[in-house]
Amino acid sequence: MTYDHIQPRSKGGETTFENLCLACPSCNEFKADSTAAIDILTGETTPLFNPRTQRWSDNFTWNSDATTVEDLTIIGRATIICLRMNNPVILVARRRWTISGWHPPND
Ligand SMILES: [Zn+2]
Repeated sequence: MTYDHIQPRSKGGETTFENLCLACPSCNEFKADSTAAIDILTGETTPLFNPRTQRWSDNFTWNSDATTVEDLTIIGRATIICLRMNNPVILVARRRWTISGWHPPND
């Protein structure tokens, strides 16, 4: 896991507990300095999910075999696409983690 600045340092974010979260390297890389993304259904600029102020289970769920993250909200949808949370590499990893009993996490 890596530390992600929720509000990027390039946009004035500070290195404080409230502004840091753990993120896998893939999500962190694709998030880059984004704080919002265009929602594909509405075309609206939508804030990305904030793990410090929002609950994961309010915005996301797992599909039936727990390999794919599904959106429950516009924030979830924009975040899944921006962070490429269902890219082919992570899908293979989740399949292996599920077989090993490491996935899905308890929320
Ligand atoms: Zn990730």
